[in-house]
Amino acid sequence: MLEKMEAIFDPERVIEEFEAMTKDAGRLQKETLRKILEQNGKTEYLQKWGLDGKTDPLSFTRCVPLVSHDDLEPYIRRIVEGDDSPILTKNPIKTISLSSGTTQGKPKFIPFNDELVESTMQIFTTSYAFRNRLFPLRNGKALQFIYGSKQFQTQGGLAAGTATTNVFRSPQFHKTMKAIHALCCSPDEVIFGPDFQQSLYCHLLCGLIYRYDVQVVSSTFAHSIVHAFKTFEQVWEEICADIRDGVLTSRVTDPTIRTAIAKLLKPNPELASLIHDVCSGLSNWYGLIPALFPNAKYIYGIMTGSMELYVNKLRHYAADLPLLSADYGSSEGWIGANVNPCLPPESATFAVLPNIGYFEFIPLKDISDFVSSEPKPVGMTEVNVGEEYEIIVTNFAGMYRYRLGDVVKVMGFHNATPELQFVCRRNLLLNINIDKNTEKDLQLSVQTAEKLLAAEKLEVVDFTSHVDLSTEPGHYVIFWEMSGEANDEVLKECCNCLDRSFVDAGYMGSRKVKTIGPLELRVLRRGTFHEILDHFIAMGGALSQFKTPRSVSSKNSKVLQILCNNVVKSYLSTAYD
Ligand code: AMP
Repeated sequence: MLEKMEAIFDPERVIEEFEAMTKDAGRLQKETLRKILEQNGKTEYLQKWGLDGKTDPLSFTRCVPLVSHDDLEPYIRRIVEGDDSPILTKNPIKTISLSSGTTQGKPKFIPFNDELVESTMQIFTTSYAFRNRLFPLRNGKALQFIYGSKQFQTQGGLAAGTATTNVFRSPQFHKTMKAIHALCCSPDEVIFGPDFQQSLYCHLLCGLIYRYDVQVVSSTFAHSIVHAFKTFEQVWEEICADIRDGVLTSRVTDPTIRTAIAKLLKPNPELASLIHDVCSGLSNWYGLIPALFPNAKYIYGIMTGSMELYVNKLRHYAADLPLLSADYGSSEGWIGANVNPCLPPESATFAVLPNIGYFEFIPLKDISDFVSSEPKPVGMTEVNVGEEYEIIVTNFAGMYRYRLGDVVKVMGFHNATPELQFVCRRNLLLNINIDKNTEKDLQLSVQTAEKLLAAEKLEVVDFTSHVDLSTEPGHYVIFWEMSGEANDEVLKECCNCLDRSFVDAGYMGSRKVKTIGPLELRVLRRGTFHEILDHFIAMGGALSQFKTPRSVSSKNSKVLQILCNNVVKSYLSTAYD
């Protein structure tokens, strides 16, 4: 189908198909489940649950249990070891995705197949078609901060890399990017280079070589865009020198990257001095992106969930250039496309694509639902607007009633398909006794306390948390890296404010009766989160998929050690004294 994509790709047709599909979402869900089960009914996994050829939702949900990655791990391990019998899918899995593992401290293996590539392209083209109505693109390029992870062979001979790497390597990716006018400025040698610092430098360089062609600046997650332009602040003069002389800096040592760049880089003193003037004329790098790329129409990447922290910084670099938040999915499979690109990133929603998987939703009305051992999921068309749910995925890549671990809120419907807002990861980040705080609670608390830094013209660059049970009673620790130094008084106030901003009754009650100790704010040396990123890359992760872990348990000892080694100051809250 994608062979002819370049010639026939018509965004309006994509929208028509999407409208037809979403009008018929209920029927399509049943149809999709039927297809998944017909295709894979003879697999070892599905046979085990005694479906006996039944493909209807009721039989499926009665027979097949809800699972998490731990339950599937023994099946996936056999696939990784080279067993190509139909274990989870009828067709043998030939590629494995490696999830980041930043949260648990160890990477997870996840099956990857052609159907996942297809659904990725469907998501990309759907959201592109809607963006295109607002911001039409012409033939041009995209400055994409994308990075392949190191690919390796599993012991069973399967190719393994991060899910984004597997997608970037697929021939469909290039074709789709071409069709949606988002061909990457950088050659593949840069995307798949062995050292992400060298790749990042070259992405910036290639973007500037094609300065006037760049219509979109993007990455998978917004963190990579912010990271890229922060790096630009450090290396821009070196990049200008490279462009002036037509010679790549010696800091890029990889021979394949050097050869690829040599084909693009020619001496261009005018461009070099123009970029120099542009950069020298900016105040505190405000509006850097449109100043460097005058024809850019928007900035694109996932800006929701744990990426919200970076939106302010991105706005600073973007000035008036629109920020458009990208779609919702995971290494295990895609869920929804952002078909309302005009919404600001903070309120972005994702319309579920009813033909890429069968989706169920566990209602999370109150905190008891979070700990319930007998969750009662509802179907996609039975969800209620305004309510929160944990999402469950069944798809063509061997996931059956798989608990992704995300909490979403239903904001409305697009025709008959729900539009979801990402709320947080489901697991409670902070819990000592009867207190229960999620990633969202932590984020809100940090956002509130961060306002106290505004008068000092400072911001939180990144943050994470930890439950410290080594003290009696245990207490919350919040780690902050800031853009500069704040005085003690302000930081003491921030610490008290963080403590007061956890408004869950269990926490407040426990703090009052002192069964939870005073919250501790630990200020980190500049560059600490860089060190964590380096650690993540060294574990086989890729910058494209990096998400700062918002909570670090003692199990993730290496990351905790990095954090603890970099504490420069710490404060204990007096909010409940
Ligand atoms: P990974 O498997 O590394 O790609 O991570 C997938 C996870 O990233 C999802 O389960 C979500 O928690 C998060 N994620 C993916 N897309 C979004 C999005 N659009 N907004 C917020 N979080 C997202």
